[in-house]
Amino acid sequence: MRIDLRSDTVTQPDAAMRAAMAKAEVGDDVFGDDPTVNRLQEIAAERFGMQAGLFFPSGTQSNLAALMSHCQRGEEVIVGQDAHTYHYEAGGMAVLGSIQPQPLNNRPDGTLDLAEVEAAIKPDDAHFAITKLIAIENTIGGKVLSRGYMADVIALARRRNLSVHLDGARIFNASVKLGMPVKELCAGFDTVSVCLSKGLGTPAGTVLVGKQELIDRARRIRKMLGGTMRQVGILAAAGIHALEHNVERLAEDHANAERLAKGLAALGLKVDPVQTNMVFVAIPKESTAGLKEHLEKNGVVALVSPKLRLVTHLDVDAAAIDRAVAIFRAFFASATASGQRRAQSVS
Ligand SMILES: *Cc1c(COP(=O)(O)O)cnc(C)c1O
Repeated sequence: MRIDLRSDTVTQPDAAMRAAMAKAEVGDDVFGDDPTVNRLQEIAAERFGMQAGLFFPSGTQSNLAALMSHCQRGEEVIVGQDAHTYHYEAGGMAVLGSIQPQPLNNRPDGTLDLAEVEAAIKPDDAHFAITKLIAIENTIGGKVLSRGYMADVIALARRRNLSVHLDGARIFNASVKLGMPVKELCAGFDTVSVCLSKGLGTPAGTVLVGKQELIDRARRIRKMLGGTMRQVGILAAAGIHALEHNVERLAEDHANAERLAKGLAALGLKVDPVQTNMVFVAIPKESTAGLKEHLEKNGVVALVSPKLRLVTHLDVDAAAIDRAVAIFRAFFASATASGQRRAQSVS
């Protein structure tokens, strides 16, 4: 069995999820006729304490539609350099939304410095784009932003009359880690985008929740972007199943990430402290090519680089983690042995 640690998006829908999908009642969602989609949107809105929800094929499109709902052409969003919306969505907000991003450096803990955010808000002057929105991300690079920090971001936005969007692709990882319901954790955001296809394990789908007026705008934009689908209750059923069964168990992914981090640190590797389901390991440059080959040969799938990211998810259990650690150990033990042999032969 392969152990795929590239991302929590690689999960296979299990038998129960497939059964839920097979028996989903469906209708044409362009007409608003799909009862399963409607139910998912209601459940998600309810869970987040928001007025409305809208189902999207992907998180990228949900984020884009949200940003476009907040910002008109020539308006601006303040966003982190490391944020998915800025760095990993092909510049969609600029290309398709005519929105100007104002990126700021994320601090090592994933937050933006709020003094920098405030300083980046443009005065009302014809030289400048119109600052409209602050967008943050939780979790970001596997790190959890606290409720206190997010409340400070929301308070700043309110004080300066800006909107706030949360890219909560993995917000349930934060919620489980903090032991705080998403309703509490996300209170005050205008929109929150929540991926169902990451740790929650569905084949596809993201739900955008937020204020009714913004969700209504996002519905029109989704249509424009080509993201409105027909009998898509089949996917929404997977989403409902995931919200009902796969949220609390994220704690297992976090425990497995911790187990993996401990195992790799014991090999002498430099491992960042783990907060949720991501482990970042420094791989000596001279080892990356060899490690990649060794992992491939032994059935561990990973995107090997000097800053290796390993992600736990519902298709890897503790036993798989132990096997993965053993496979890493075999590589580094032999590397050390050959290094020592080299060292000996030099001396
Ligand atoms: C994965 C991800 C997205 C986008 O989701 P896709 O469904 O892959 O388009 C957005 N934001 C964050 C933080 C993500 O991790």
